[in-house]
Amino acid sequence: MIADQNCLCHQPPLIASGYDIHMIGIDTTNGRFGEVKILMCKSCKTSWLLYQVEYEFISRSGRWYRGIMQPNDFKTLKPETAEAYLESLPWYFVGGSVFDTIGKLGKGTLSLDM
Ligand SMILES: [Zn+2]
Repeated sequence: MIADQNCLCHQPPLIASGYDIHMIGIDTTNGRFGEVKILMCKSCKTSWLLYQVEYEFISRSGRWYRGIMQPNDFKTLKPETAEAYLESLPWYFVGGSVFDTIGKLGKGTLSLDM
């Protein structure tokens, strides 16, 4: 699958109405309550893996990571493996109040804990 880099899904911020959203589950690693979802872009059909976590008792703690996912990997994806999957990608979008951005390019280790 070739992602259309001109599509809106490659331009943060994320507009939820542009995607078919599938909830994968909750990652409870380290006491997190991380929401793991797959978002399929309605326009270019790119699939994105989204990991979102926020600590409600800490202000400005929200963060998310969104990276392109290969459809072949859907079956093996679990909430607990989403972090490693995103870290294995050459790049992803990262954002949230903790980073004070609507989304920017990133790669490597995720910062999901408090
Ligand atoms: Zn798209």
